[in-house]
Amino acid sequence: MFNLSKEDIEKIDHMFNEVQNASKTFMGYPCNQDFDYDRLFPFLEYTVNNIGDPYIPTHYRLNSHTLEREVLDFFAGLMHADKDNFWGYVTNGGTEGNMYGLYLARELYPEGIVYHSQDVHYSITKSFRVLRMKNIMIRSQKNGEIDYDDLKETIHIRREVPPIFLLTIGTTMRAAIDNVGKIRSMMEELAITEYYIHCDAALSGMILPFIDNATPFDFAAGADSISVSGHKFIGCPIPCGVVLAKKKNVDKISKFVEYVGTLDTTLTGSRNGISPIFLWYAIKNIGVDGFKKKVSDCLERADYALAELNKLGCNAWKNDFATTVVFDRPSQDIINKWQLAPQGDISHIIIMPSVTKEMIDEFLDDIKNAKNKG
Ligand SMILES: *Cc1c(COP(=O)(O)O)cnc(C)c1O
Repeated sequence: MFNLSKEDIEKIDHMFNEVQNASKTFMGYPCNQDFDYDRLFPFLEYTVNNIGDPYIPTHYRLNSHTLEREVLDFFAGLMHADKDNFWGYVTNGGTEGNMYGLYLARELYPEGIVYHSQDVHYSITKSFRVLRMKNIMIRSQKNGEIDYDDLKETIHIRREVPPIFLLTIGTTMRAAIDNVGKIRSMMEELAITEYYIHCDAALSGMILPFIDNATPFDFAAGADSISVSGHKFIGCPIPCGVVLAKKKNVDKISKFVEYVGTLDTTLTGSRNGISPIFLWYAIKNIGVDGFKKKVSDCLERADYALAELNKLGCNAWKNDFATTVVFDRPSQDIINKWQLAPQGDISHIIIMPSVTKEMIDEFLDDIKNAKNKG
């Protein structure tokens, strides 16, 4: 380990500086950087690997399954999962959780067609290809939410095929929420009883449960599986996430898996055993009340940014319950500096616990200066 040349050491130091600097102007992606995991660093000296199902004992005991199950219990509580009928695991991120949900849905309804909005996350389209699932893209409304009329018309003419809904709970650009309740009413109206609802709640899955009267999306509302990212609102140096599904459904496909004898319950074999410890630590330290406070503070700063951007004539707006503020696409300099994600003529900032009022003010100054110059 001590064979690094002077040049190599400089490279590492340079990398560290770059990372440090980039984190100071980071507002376009929903990754909270406000965390402190120092206490857990000793774990990094071990090859903690959560290989296999977190609920099944294995010979590989160098794992954190016990804490992983507590993390899953926490999310199951937040998402109102049935205590006796849920299963899940800590994933490598929202993408894996979504792929797991789709995989489960496809095994249950091999002929099913997936319906999703135009605003679906780009990674989902890739999962459709990997899983070879037939999918139909539905128009989005202006606010980024799926267009229910278009959806209903589209399903109406394919009533014989079980629909699989890939709903986005907090879209990437506009943090719009597809309404699980409206989908269920639609199924009732169409007298369709065989369907599956997966909620991609990568970001908002850790925001909405802490807001009174937010649009429901959880198991009580009718979801069959839910994926949430761990490194977004909670914050974690290692990308991670949680996927939850109904145990009865998972059991159906595990049987199928035993029969084939090649796959196991989780998508990957070896699994990161460190991130469940990090998530557990954050959850224990922050707690439900702590998350409530963080969410309400972020919403407050989002309202502030929204009002100030409008004073500068940026046509800013945001969806209800969102910490994502959408506005006219700014200059390329500003996009580069603040690492913003543009889409056509709009862009956004996402207020996370690590996005301080000072950062917002500096950003507003940049916008103001650019307008004066322009
Ligand atoms: C971030 C995000 C994803 C992907 O999650 P990762 O944790 O980056 O894999 C999927 N869907 C939505 C809506 C997201 O915001």
